[in-house]
Parts: sequence; C-alpha cells; structure tokens
Amino acid sequence: MPEVKEIIGGFLILSNRVRLGISPVIQVKGRHNIVYDTGGPNAKQYLAKELERQKIDPKKVDTLIISHSHWDHAMNPDLFPNAKIFIGKSEYEYGKNIMKSDWATPSYINRLYDGRNKELVDSEFEIESGVKIIGIPGHTPGTLGLEVETKKGTAVLGSDALFSAKSFLAGIPLLVFHSKQKAKESMKRMKKEGSLFYPGHDRPFTFDGKNIKFISDSVFDMQIVMPPGMDNLHYHIDTRKLK
Ligand SMILES: [Zn+2]
Repeated sequence: MPEVKEIIGGFLILSNRVRLGISPVIQVKGRHNIVYDTGGPNAKQYLAKELERQKIDPKKVDTLIISHSHWDHAMNPDLFPNAKIFIGKSEYEYGKNIMKSDWATPSYINRLYDGRNKELVDSEFEIESGVKIIGIPGHTPGTLGLEVETKKGTAVLGSDALFSAKSFLAGIPLLVFHSKQKAKESMKRMKKEGSLFYPGHDRPFTFDGKNIKFISDSVFDMQIVMPPGMDNLHYHIDTRKLK
C-alpha cells in the first residue's frame, strides 16, 4: 500500500509584520513517487537540505501535486525537474487574472510551470490504485487534495483547505480567499472520507469524532536579534514537550 511521509512539516506562526508561511512538503510512495506541495521560497534551502538528508532523490520524483497557487506552497517545482505537475484547472485559470486584494498568489505563479509537463484537473483523478486527487475548492478556486489508502486508513492531504487542527474543528480554514460556502463543504467532505489528516499549517493528526491526536512531532527554532550587549530572544518550540 502507498505510504505517506512528511519531508518537512508545517507550523502556524502569526506575526504583526510578516507572514512566515511554514507549510509541509509530503511524499507519497506507491507505484509512483509523488510529492504534494513544494513550500515557499523561504523554505527552498531547507527543503533541498532535507531531501538530501532523507536520501530522497528529487530527480526521481515523477509526480508533483500543487495544492494551490499560494506563495508558501507552490514555489519550488524546479527542485523536482522530472515530475509531471498536477494543478487545479480553476487555480491555473485564476492565476491568469488574480484579484487585486489577493496578497498570497504571486502574479508570476503560472510561469513556474512553463515548459513543464503538466495536467490541469479540478475533480477526481486517480494517479494509481489507492492514490486519488480530489477537488477541495473554497480556500482558493481550484485547491487540490490527495486521498491515499494507507495501512492506517485513508490519509487526506488537504493543505490550506484543512489549514490546521483548530480550523478542522471549526469546520472552515482560518483564511478563505474564494468561497466560505465551498470551503465548508470541502472540509465536511474531507472529515467524512479521511481518518488521517495532513493540514497546510500544522502537524498531521487523527480524529475520533471528538479528539485530535497528532501523529508526528516538530521542532521550530527562531531568534530575534537584539541590540549589542543584549542576548537574542530565543523561541524554541518542540512539540514533544507539549504533552
Ligand atoms: Zn493558502
């Protein structure tokens, strides 16, 4: 059966100045060697390092699924030069005419796919037995999810249509750029069809109808540089210590 593995994990860290946009990159290994999402430009170096450390040869990734066009999810397809790219048809069309108020979709997003073997899909598309693309619009016009039949049940990779464990419980992603109604319907669908959930800015989790249980841990380290003579402010989050 296909296996799902986080290459890098997601976090949701808010600030009044910049958005950090820490999103996961996930590998699905079945007959195909699939990667779901590619992170932002601020994660390129870290992702390349992790691919090397985890002995994942990016040249051997044959399928790349871009959940949606936001800058923190879609920006590194060049790291996987031989992969066929799947993008939402509505997402790609939207990329040609982006709303002025949309701060998260770069104007040049579709150019990242120039010269690449790509397929535009909006609804169900079976990549192989047990691995299926699903349309989960709402957060953006053409958000794509991935359902994977694993030994532990159906894993739903939902990116920002799931957003976080808190958003999952609320029934709607923290941020909605396209349609709140569709975002709620997509969340409901994922909740119904999945037993393991991979959100766009949080750790993966299971849900028994009442409680969230995270299934992986993550460490985040941040420093704010202080003036000379003062120690830097140091934030270190290790989710193993949150229990
Ligand atoms: Zn997004």
